[in-house]
Amino acid sequence: MKYRIATIPGDGIGPDVVAIAVKVLEAVAGKSGFELSFTEAPMGGVAIDRFGTPLPQASEETCKGSDAVLLGAMGGPKWDGLAGDKRPEAGLLGIRKALGVYANLRPALMFPQLAGACPLRPDLVAGGLDILIVRELTGGIYFGERGRSADGQSAWDTERYSRMEIERILKVGFEAAMGRAKRLCVVDKANVLESSRLWRETAQAMAPKWPEVELSFLYVDNAAMQLVKNPRQFDVIATSNMFGDILSDEASQITGSIGMLASASIGDSGPGLFEPIHGSAPDIAGQDKANPLATVLSAAMLLRYSLKREAEAKAVEAAVSAALDSGYRCGDIASKSPGEKLVGTKAMGEAVLAAVEGRLE
Ligand code: NAD
Repeated sequence: MKYRIATIPGDGIGPDVVAIAVKVLEAVAGKSGFELSFTEAPMGGVAIDRFGTPLPQASEETCKGSDAVLLGAMGGPKWDGLAGDKRPEAGLLGIRKALGVYANLRPALMFPQLAGACPLRPDLVAGGLDILIVRELTGGIYFGERGRSADGQSAWDTERYSRMEIERILKVGFEAAMGRAKRLCVVDKANVLESSRLWRETAQAMAPKWPEVELSFLYVDNAAMQLVKNPRQFDVIATSNMFGDILSDEASQITGSIGMLASASIGDSGPGLFEPIHGSAPDIAGQDKANPLATVLSAAMLLRYSLKREAEAKAVEAAVSAALDSGYRCGDIASKSPGEKLVGTKAMGEAVLAAVEGRLE
């Protein structure tokens, strides 16, 4: 069996962390007897520099013709002065839209070894934390009509959702809840926003199809508060593009570090897009300081969701856990506890590689 993987290393720390994840995937394929071919697709700032556009047509085609796409991060101060649709982030939004990946699954999973990195009181996260945020990815205010008045003194962005868009993302939420603790919390701002009222109405209409799932609703401001007050109340959270963007970053901090959190973006068919939730971290780019584990865990999600290789996905996740057990820590997850070994991107990658090879012998 041979799978085609498109890689989008992107900018900043993107190339560093994608290189590690590719090595891990190659090792897994070698040990498990399947083949992977990797094709690099330039996107983001590097593509602006080379081709004058953040999303070159050829890169888009490479991604569409693959079985799965592994992405690092896009953006950085070098391109901050460009107009919105010329910026690196336009490449990111464009490829999500082009692949039709409307569901972004963001697990906020706290590894017990990193409990010390959690900024909350230990009793609030006793027994661990496992929240799945299901974020709508191709609609809402990030894609709505926007503009500026002629005099430049006012600007607008539009939140717009169709019932179809809401239904398909909530279906992912209900189904994910069925495979977990069967609790789905829909987060919105239905006290103010008409689009949120449509989310609520749609969720209520769908609920009878999943009678075992306990459905609840929270306003986004309350949800932000509850995430730090009592995070263990949550199982699956389903929400809109912007609310999900913000809440998943908040959840990432509860689990320890943004450098640990993976994501999968999937649609009804075609390749999934797998990426860490962090950005290009220009402050540490090229310094061998980036934590590659979020990207390695994204590669595990790629194995699970796109290649349907559950055993290999579990082996990668277990290898990450083993590297943490052995005390390896990048700067973002280091707590200076005895037994910890402060390592850079490459050494962390080596630790995971050794552990995954051992697991798939
Ligand atoms: P960021 O996630 O890049 O960095 C936030 C902080 O977290 C920084 O201090 C950074 O050093 C740290 N950090 C991030 N990833 C880390 C890792 N793997 N290991 C260790 N530390 C890590 O967010 P930002 O600073 O707001 O954005 C920087 C650039 O990235 C901007 O241009 C932004 O538009 C872009 N961005 C891209 C994506 C993406 O491509 N998906 C997502 C968010 C931000």
